[in-house]
Amino acid sequence: MGSGQLGRMFAIEARKMGYRIHTLSPDRDSPTGQIAEREVVASYSDEAAVRDFAKGISVLTFEFENVPSQTIEWAAEHCIVRPAGRVLHICQHRLREKEFLSSAGLPVAPFRKVTSAGELVQAAAELGLPGVLKTAAFGYDGKGQRKLSPGDDLVEAWQPFDGAPAVLEGFVKFEREVSVIVCRGVDGAMATWPVCENEHANHILDITYCPARIPDRIAEDARALAQRVALALDLVGVLAVEMFLLADGDLVINELAPRPHNSGHFSFDASVTSQFAQQVRTVCGLPLGCTDSLAPAAMSNLLGDVWLESRTGTPDWAAALAIPGVHLHLYGKAEPKRGRKMGHITATGRDVEDAAARARAARSALLG
Ligand code: AMP
Repeated sequence: MGSGQLGRMFAIEARKMGYRIHTLSPDRDSPTGQIAEREVVASYSDEAAVRDFAKGISVLTFEFENVPSQTIEWAAEHCIVRPAGRVLHICQHRLREKEFLSSAGLPVAPFRKVTSAGELVQAAAELGLPGVLKTAAFGYDGKGQRKLSPGDDLVEAWQPFDGAPAVLEGFVKFEREVSVIVCRGVDGAMATWPVCENEHANHILDITYCPARIPDRIAEDARALAQRVALALDLVGVLAVEMFLLADGDLVINELAPRPHNSGHFSFDASVTSQFAQQVRTVCGLPLGCTDSLAPAAMSNLLGDVWLESRTGTPDWAAALAIPGVHLHLYGKAEPKRGRKMGHITATGRDVEDAAARARAARSALLG
């Protein structure tokens, strides 16, 4: 379910192994649909279409966590669903996710549920400001969130959030943002890829370095923390755990995604088993593949901005691909828009700085 680039890369890996892919989403000629054998265009709330879709497949997974829980319940009456709908239900709602993590004893920023301006004032008094106000559902890439500073007019700040539950989080003074992709098989076996270090621009992931430029001990802690999350969720599948790394070496979990993640795209070119191949293995009940890296790697996202800013309106693919170690991935989206993820570049190198320099150089070369 879902038909974006994550489903596309999953479908490519599944096709390599001989599986047939069906995809359901409201979109036509979608990134996943272009690779799938069957593209069903339907709303997630179309019960008849969802049931019919589920009857035609052996196992269902999702590449998009905002599929309604009800949809997964309908489907689960007809086919295996991995990860379980329960995992999706937790991870698609910030408040449920934070309550789950903190009740499992896992580190999160201090937070309060907020459903009115009055509750926001109360929460700000309890946690102190600065803080970050986030919608509980449907937020991504910094959408549906606002940083609050001491002295801000909280009644005014609440206005755009009014009508849906939100979460106020204490502001975390982090040194770096890192993520760990963890996978767990039906037999309970777990593995993680090396820690990714993520730099954002305008709240959207810009560059990932893998491995992260952090001490080995912290990397081990981060990988162990991600495994604790997977175990607590009783996950079968692939899960991304985004974390903040503090100056004292402590890790705080920011967000979970119960699927492959943008920061794990390097694995498509630079790991023995990619996050997408692993998703295929886990949902099909196969043994996990090795998650070792083949080389230090970096990934840079290609947003629609690259098309809009390129000298001729078409990025100079040849110039980017002339750089050694560079791989180009395009998602088959027709219309480039500012901030829209259209593709990415991965680069391998002697070390992670070298890989990042190549990925950056390739992206600059696209502009002509
Ligand atoms: P999110 O949508 O929760 O992943 O947040 C998007 C970005 O906002 C993160 O990658 C951080 O850079 C920043 N951010 C989110 N929450 C916090 C927080 N509690 N403290 C500091 N920065 C934050």
